Amino acid sequence: MIQGIGAAAGVAIGRAFVLPAWEMDVQDRQLETIDLGKEFDRLHEGIITSKQEIEEIRNEIQVMVGKEESTIFDAHIAILEDPVFMSEVRGIIERQYKAAEVAVKEAIDHFVAMFDLLDDEYMKERALDIKDVGNRLLKHLLGTPEVTLPKNNEPYILVAHELSPSQLVHLNPSNVLGMVTMVGGKSSHSAIMARALGIPLVSGFENKLDPMIQTGDMLVLNGSSGCLYVNPSSEVIEQHTIVAEKLRRRKEQLQLLAAEDAVTLDGVHYHLAANISSYKEFELAVKHGAEGVGLFRTEFLYMDRQELPTEEEQFEIYRKVAEHAGKHPVVIRTLDIGGDKQLEYFPLPEEDNPFLGYRAIRISLDRHDLFKTQLTAILRASTHGSVKIMYPMITSAEEIRSANLILQEAMADLDNRGIPYDREIPVGIMIEVPAAAASADLLAAECDFFSIGTNDLVQYVLAVDRMNEKIAHLYRPYHPAVLRMLKMTVEAARLHNIQVSVCGEMAGDERSIPLWAYLGVHHLSMSPQSLLRIKHSILNLAAAEEAGIGRDCFACRTAGEIEDLLSSRAQLES
Ligand code: PEP
Ligand code: MG
Repeated sequence: MIQGIGAAAGVAIGRAFVLPAWEMDVQDRQLETIDLGKEFDRLHEGIITSKQEIEEIRNEIQVMVGKEESTIFDAHIAILEDPVFMSEVRGIIERQYKAAEVAVKEAIDHFVAMFDLLDDEYMKERALDIKDVGNRLLKHLLGTPEVTLPKNNEPYILVAHELSPSQLVHLNPSNVLGMVTMVGGKSSHSAIMARALGIPLVSGFENKLDPMIQTGDMLVLNGSSGCLYVNPSSEVIEQHTIVAEKLRRRKEQLQLLAAEDAVTLDGVHYHLAANISSYKEFELAVKHGAEGVGLFRTEFLYMDRQELPTEEEQFEIYRKVAEHAGKHPVVIRTLDIGGDKQLEYFPLPEEDNPFLGYRAIRISLDRHDLFKTQLTAILRASTHGSVKIMYPMITSAEEIRSANLILQEAMADLDNRGIPYDREIPVGIMIEVPAAAASADLLAAECDFFSIGTNDLVQYVLAVDRMNEKIAHLYRPYHPAVLRMLKMTVEAARLHNIQVSVCGEMAGDERSIPLWAYLGVHHLSMSPQSLLRIKHSILNLAAAEEAGIGRDCFACRTAGEIEDLLSSRAQLES
């Protein structure tokens, strides 16, 4: 047995396919002054083609895996557009008269060496991204063919020195039993993607394998423990076959729950809806038994394009989702850009604190034109299903009132155009800013429902930027202060008899269930991948018992104590 790093859980048993190392053969080539212009054109074309290709991959990943994983490729585009990287490449061509591919290769080597010197694992892994982007650009400059994977339908375990997200995207997940890489760790983008795709991955075997694995070798790996066996004994294969079979059955069993109601052993019903950002994601949610959509992140309809989506374009997608959701509600959140979500064609001002700045409802209230178009499209879709409107990042009753005034304008326009819509369309707000939680009793009187956005709520309550790796350990959803914000919000909703749901990541974490049981939250909305797992937990517990644990959490003084309590509980149940 060889010990590596467990990077994506699961057990795989099968034959190895070793990905040939892809060494780019870059010949040193000097240019004449007269050729410089042509060389820049060639570089430019290579960049454009690479960018288009990355965009295509990103869109594919968004559908296949999820939007969070697809942002890896936004980072790749950013590298292609990075002024420091690109000016290094251009400088080598211009000053040293070197061919574009030579300049790109030298720039990659330089930056990778620089990142490698850093003492930070995360930054070291970013060097892989630079290599990935650089190799893609080189491929377009040199016309080097892509590595071909086995074409027959025999499943295999992929072995590579390192795997880039771009290589992963070309894999057919149903053919890949598992993956082994020599370099890369838990936080590499490939590991993130492997986890989302459900492919077991072990890594960190550089200098540990002698002899090196050959195509056709029998492999057994465990993506949780990081163990790898090369040509193991039949006992090892047998033991792991049993574990793999157990895991496979669990997946199958979970899928059987798709059509079941999420009811606890003591009869408490939970409504489990999905967070989506596209129609494709909605389809996945339906397959996983979602009872409608608790959060439609509409900003993704505004991305990957050159101009704002028209009323008609938006109407079409909202209608399609509403229609297919049937009786289940579809909560459409109005545009939530700013912070980490930007639109290429709608530049936002540079800000010192973008998360505290011009974003979400603040932009909508500043840009009536844009907001009214979206509200009109949502209203038109409202006759095709059970549609609700939700405003993001609300901090005051004034904002709700101002937004409603524009909603009324949109309604009046539709009246003039003779287009029907639901006059009683429910209008709710996200509770994701401490101000909203602290004044939830006042806001509840101004809207039809609350949805708690714990992702932002946690960052604002704890003053911890949710994007900042350096302080990621301080981002603690189970902090007592967060729990108190949740309680305040739920109590205010109950007092005013409006529905309250949770749509942040906490909803998809089984450790939170005792909190919802104690607080009396029965509506949860989460990523489609989490739905069946959460449903399974709910089906196997008694709400009254969970509520007791939830109550104990409120007596804890530290996030650590709460985490311990909830983790041991979740382990007991799994
Ligand atoms: C949240 O903030 O919890 C939320 C659901 O919205 P987003 O993650 O899109 O900011
Ligand atoms: Mg949010």
